Parts: sequence; structure tokens; C-alpha cells
Amino acid sequence: MKYTRVLLKISGEALAGDQGHGIASDVLVKISQEIATLQKTGCEVAVVVGGGNIHRGVAGATTGMDRSTSDYMGMIATVINSLALQDALERQNIYTRVMSAIDMQEVAEPYIRRRAVRHLEKKRVVIFAAGTGNPYFTTDTTAALRANEINAQVIMKATKVDGIYDKDPMKFKDAKKFDSLSYMEVLNKEIKVMDSTAITLCMDNNMDIVVFNMFEAGNIARVVKGEKVGTVVTKTI
Ligand code: UDP
Repeated sequence: MKYTRVLLKISGEALAGDQGHGIASDVLVKISQEIATLQKTGCEVAVVVGGGNIHRGVAGATTGMDRSTSDYMGMIATVINSLALQDALERQNIYTRVMSAIDMQEVAEPYIRRRAVRHLEKKRVVIFAAGTGNPYFTTDTTAALRANEINAQVIMKATKVDGIYDKDPMKFKDAKKFDSLSYMEVLNKEIKVMDSTAITLCMDNNMDIVVFNMFEAGNIARVVKGEKVGTVVTKTI
């Protein structure tokens, strides 16, 4: 196996499935099955879940809401998703811990880096909830931050398509897929795979990002083995 500790980033939108908002129970089951497959490869798995299926800070702010308040609502949305994912994983007989960056001791452990690493060593899937705990950030940046903190070898960014394209492959038949891109190219071409804060944090710390389709059978195991799947964002190409 190329990777023995990974950080999986799942967007809130992915949880919504075709219904576009909220949590689609069939999608939740599928995602938990894929995470179970990943965990059973022997790889240590940490997960960051987004909250865009429930609330996005920027969207609230456009209606006149205070941006920070709106962002805190977004962070709390990620806790809702994290609990849903924990429940689904437990139904797959996977041991999990939800660790929240905002204190909510009745529902989740506080985020303590050393404890998170210990959970991973004990082969528990650790779900990082409430983002970084700070407004003006995203869960992509959370993924970059936590991946570095726990010494993950890679960020596995699950998307609906099988990598990064030069244009939207859903709209353009001639869209070309990249096998790899450098961090700088992602920034310069303004590719919307992760926000610039997240990409910069990965660039400064040499954290590779594999962008891949989580729902294609066998993909998860292939990423962990280091096979060519999706698009790799890395230092040099
Ligand atoms: N958020 C935040 N700080 C963080 C992480 C998230 O304020 O460290 C808020 C922000 O408002 C964001 C929302 O939580 O819009 C949901 O996260 P995100 O948009 O990253 O979710 P995704 O796009 O992955 O579903």
C-alpha cells in the first residue's frame, strides 16, 4: 500500500445526492460502505465532512446575515452531517469517533490532536466536525489543516466526476482530464477544486491531493495502492 494514513474529504453536497439538499439516506449508506472498504484495507482513515447541503456561510451573508454568524451555522451543519455519517458507519460495524472543533461535549469529543492520532492508531475512523472552528474558512481548508496535523500522507478528495478537467465534463463533451497538476497550476488556472487557502496550505507543506470519484467500484482501494486514479495535485508534474 502506498498510503497507510489518509484524510478523506466529503462535501456536504455529496450527501444530498439528487435531492440537492439535506441528507439522502441511500447516499449515506453508499458512502459509509466505501469508507468501510477503505478502512478494511488496513489504512487509517480520518474524514472531514462539509456542510454545504445544509448551510453555507457565504450564501447566508448574501441575504444580509452577519458573515461570521452564518459561518458558525455552516460549521454546526457539518456536525449534523458528521453524526449522520458516524451512525451510518456504526451500522457497517466500523468504530468511529466524532471530534468537534467547537465544544459540544454531549454529542462529540473535543478535537485534541494527540487523541485523534491515538484513535487512528486503534483503527477507529475519526470524523472531524465543525471545520476549523473559525469563520471565514471552509471544510477544504479544514481537510488541509487536519491532514497535516495528523501526518496523513494524502488528502483524498471525493467528487462526482473522476478527476479535474479543463472545463465542466457534464457540459462539454471535449473536456480534457488532467492526470496531474501542480498546486501553482491549480491556483493560476483558478481551478475550483478546493479554495485557494486550502491549496496554499497543501502547497506549503507538500500535502498531495487525489481528486477522484468515490462511487466508481474499486477506486478507493486503487488510490490507497497508489494506482493512477483521478487527478493528483502535487508539487511538480
Ligand atoms: N465553515 C467555517 N469554518 C470552517 C469550516 C466551515 O466557517 O473552518 C463554514 C462555512 O460557512 C462553510 C460551511 O461551514 O460554507 C460549510 O462548509 P463547506 O462550504 O466547506 O462545505 P462543503 O462545500 O464541503 O459542503
